[in-house]
Amino acid sequence: MPLDLLLTNATVVNADGRLHCHVGVAGGVIAGLYRTGTPDLPAARRTIDATGKLLIPGGVDAHCHVEQVTGAYKSLDTFQVATTAALHGGTTTIIDFGIPAGPQESPRAAAENKLALMAGARCDVALHGAVVAWDETVPAQLEWMAERGIRSVKLYTTNRGTTMADDDTIVHVMKEMVRLDGLTYIHSEHDAIIEDRVATCAHDHQLAVSHLHETRPAISEDASVREVLAMAQYTGAPVYFVHQTTPEAVDAVRQARAEGRAAFSETCPHYLAFDEGVYASSDPEKFACCPPMRPRAAVDGLLDRVAWGHVDTIASDHSCYDLAQKRRRSDDVREMPHGLPGVETRMPAAFTSLVRGRGLGVERFVELFATAPARINGLDAKGVIAVGYDADLVLFDPDEARPVESAHLHMGTDFSPFDGVELAGWPATVVSGGRVVLDDGVFVDPGAVGRFVPRRGVREQGLARAEVRV
Ligand SMILES: [Zn+2]
Repeated sequence: MPLDLLLTNATVVNADGRLHCHVGVAGGVIAGLYRTGTPDLPAARRTIDATGKLLIPGGVDAHCHVEQVTGAYKSLDTFQVATTAALHGGTTTIIDFGIPAGPQESPRAAAENKLALMAGARCDVALHGAVVAWDETVPAQLEWMAERGIRSVKLYTTNRGTTMADDDTIVHVMKEMVRLDGLTYIHSEHDAIIEDRVATCAHDHQLAVSHLHETRPAISEDASVREVLAMAQYTGAPVYFVHQTTPEAVDAVRQARAEGRAAFSETCPHYLAFDEGVYASSDPEKFACCPPMRPRAAVDGLLDRVAWGHVDTIASDHSCYDLAQKRRRSDDVREMPHGLPGVETRMPAAFTSLVRGRGLGVERFVELFATAPARINGLDAKGVIAVGYDADLVLFDPDEARPVESAHLHMGTDFSPFDGVELAGWPATVVSGGRVVLDDGVFVDPGAVGRFVPRRGVREQGLARAEVRV
């Protein structure tokens, strides 16, 4: 049987090193790595010459919100749109969240709703559950999710009245996730501190989006992370902190890891690229997310920690609202939608901040972008270029840079926080599940072929193939 695809003369970059070889693909998986100079290469239906570019594993974006309803707002993209944008940006697997629209929706209903919407996906998708309020039916719902490979549940410590879980809920859910061998995802900001800041800013008539960073100061994140780590220590729950933005928050997670606990730190490209000065710009809405951008010293400290290996993953926290939604109530941060489009720009934005800006090795970039998000989230066939893994591949020229123009992006919105910023690390060719979906810059829509990928549990991953060396 001939190969479906052969990428010749590839410089393969995995998290643990480089290899010059030819990469064979058959049946959607990596069928062979053949040393250059190997005689009698297998025949292939299609050959792509990878000379002069880097070949890395397809990105795994563990934090995406597609068709998300939050309060009065619904994010604008569908799974078809979001996964098309993901593929353009070198991401071949996204993990979304089934978040109850409020205490009236059950976690299982929210997850079922998302599983149905995912049918339009162009790349592989997985799902996190979420719990807003504890009751005696929650354990059975979490068990239902775990049986389907939904092995994580997200909790919010803030957003009072919508997605916030109280401390009782957090402790109960953590104990259940230990029982079910799952991961607890946490959006960690201290709600009482934020409510107090909001009240003070309201009194001073400073609730417009240009004051967003003042309503959610760094101390609110740091305080919450310490509280959640204490609850994780008490319950023994593995815990994953989404979008960490401060050096102190990352250090707290690092300390827990040093004590042998399973605690993970994620950050997002926008927190590495922008500081709170953006809220004084002419378009502060383009940067309205929670947590907000931080002071310059914190951004530099965060970049240091990524460079030191103290941050585990980089995710987009992709949330597609357009400027009209963002501007309608930008006079009051309590009334506007927060969240930024980012699934398509995650690769070039992170590559530019870290590899170009900080001199990180491409290997370390691959770890943050693909390998670690796959391993931590139990996607055991993703994130590595090795025989038997899914044929999710990204070929790119690390020297090619161009400015972001949102009109040329594919996300379901009309802006990017990176508009006008020159970024390097754009994919040229993307292979997803063995199909060439971005062919030297030209998108070839594969149709709704994205699979729902069940994930393994945290303890199970001790045997994950992500540990295998090339
Ligand atoms: Zn999020």
